[in-house]
Amino acid sequence: MPTYKVGTEPLKTRKSMREVLCELCGKCMGKAYFSQAYSGLTADQAIELWPYLKMDIRVHESQCALHVQKQSG
Ligand SMILES: [Zn+2]
Repeated sequence: MPTYKVGTEPLKTRKSMREVLCELCGKCMGKAYFSQAYSGLTADQAIELWPYLKMDIRVHESQCALHVQKQSG
């Protein structure tokens, strides 16, 4: 299963939003308010933090698995 991270780039303002990225393929799931960089989130953890990304993450779970199977054989 893919894991997710929020961007590590420094924020310019306190209210900037970070991108939530798939750690396997790098696809952006959406943007989220988060005060610090974070990595290694499972889909469930990410959805708990950002419920509004649920649909994007669930759809990506199935799509990303296909890509990973191709890459890892
Ligand atoms: Zn992915």
